[in-house]
Amino acid sequence: MTLPAAASLTRDQTGRLLVAMGHPSYRGDQLRRHLWRGRADGFDAMRDLPARLRAELPAALRWSSLELLGSQAADRGLTDKLLFGTSAGHEVEAVMIAHPGAEGTRARQTVCVSSQAGCAIGCVFCATGRLGLRANLEAEEIVDQVLEASRRWARQGQGSPTNVVYMGMGEPLQNYSAVVDSVRLLHEWGIPLRQVVISTSGMAPEIRRLAGEGLPVRLAISLHAADDELRERLVPLNRRYPISTLIEAAQEFTAKTGRRVSLEYVLIRGVNDDLGSAERLRGLAARVHGHVNLIPMNPIPGSDLRAPGPGACREFAGRVGPRATIRFSRGDRASAACGQLRAALGANSKSERRAAALELALAAPAGGAAAGFNPSPSARS
Ligand code: SAH
Ligand code: SF4
Repeated sequence: MTLPAAASLTRDQTGRLLVAMGHPSYRGDQLRRHLWRGRADGFDAMRDLPARLRAELPAALRWSSLELLGSQAADRGLTDKLLFGTSAGHEVEAVMIAHPGAEGTRARQTVCVSSQAGCAIGCVFCATGRLGLRANLEAEEIVDQVLEASRRWARQGQGSPTNVVYMGMGEPLQNYSAVVDSVRLLHEWGIPLRQVVISTSGMAPEIRRLAGEGLPVRLAISLHAADDELRERLVPLNRRYPISTLIEAAQEFTAKTGRRVSLEYVLIRGVNDDLGSAERLRGLAARVHGHVNLIPMNPIPGSDLRAPGPGACREFAGRVGPRATIRFSRGDRASAACGQLRAALGANSKSERRAAALELALAAPAGGAAAGFNPSPSARS
């Protein structure tokens, strides 16, 4: 039987486990401090715990549900992409994104997490979609992405994560219970629910279900087209839940939670960047009273689809109106090329991997050039 991962337990459950092992419950809080902000990379390194407890813990808990396979810093240290291996042998990634504030401070620190290995939806412009669905992640595998990020920021002398966005690999609402459980666990670690964004390609019934959870998280709907004919081609899920169904679900979400949704729209040259689409998008945004994030498409391997030029992006945004903002990638310029790290690290031999990493570094957008590539010491070779 697999041991529970430490990240799968609430604070109460951790305390109770320690008591059942014959230790005071406050040892649970000590353990959680290490998991969140500690320098230790395993139970044995938690020097403030008694030796007996350190020796017993590996038989009761797993330190992490994920193995860190590699990381890649970019944007002068403001972003860090992390590649993890799951115990079932899948690879997923998370991105740490720091937003600079005044005088060297940081306004926010966001972790972009994966909810699945691969994705079943198959959007034509998405590298993850090409993989198909490999596996759903467990709640603790989502939480461990944030814990790893938090410890890394702590080691760099930076503060804790402030925001978590479900915009990495996978369709969060197709892994509904693990995602909702992970949101609750992350809230216990100190992430305010209002700083959590769940991004969905349009699972209308689950949007309604989420509205009833009593979790005031933010919802982003990945629209990408403003009419059903085009959306069916870009996001095949539209055949099941067409735009009108999605808009009604979004309206219900807002009515029940008091939170407006945002609409995500990846701009693709010659495909969805015409001004007629912009006008229709303006109408849809008005119906949900929501903001529109326009994301010029990141090129992906094996596809000729490209973003329109900057002028065309601005013209499109102007036509959508004041509700629109151009973002440079996945909600943030800094996370550009998210989704490509797995491809780089997934290459078979070390030399292939190095070549792929170099390619990735060269492909990174201007200003966001990948600065370094560090396979973690434990990375599989
Ligand atoms: N499956 C969910 C969440 C993960 S994808 C969803 O689709 O919403 C997160 C965001 O990344 C989505 O808005 C998606 O459209 C965007 N994205 C995917 N591939 C991209 C690419 N090549 N360039 C820019 N954004 C992309
Ligand atoms: Fe899946 Fe989102 Fe990629 Fe579409 S954009 S294939 S839903 S991860």
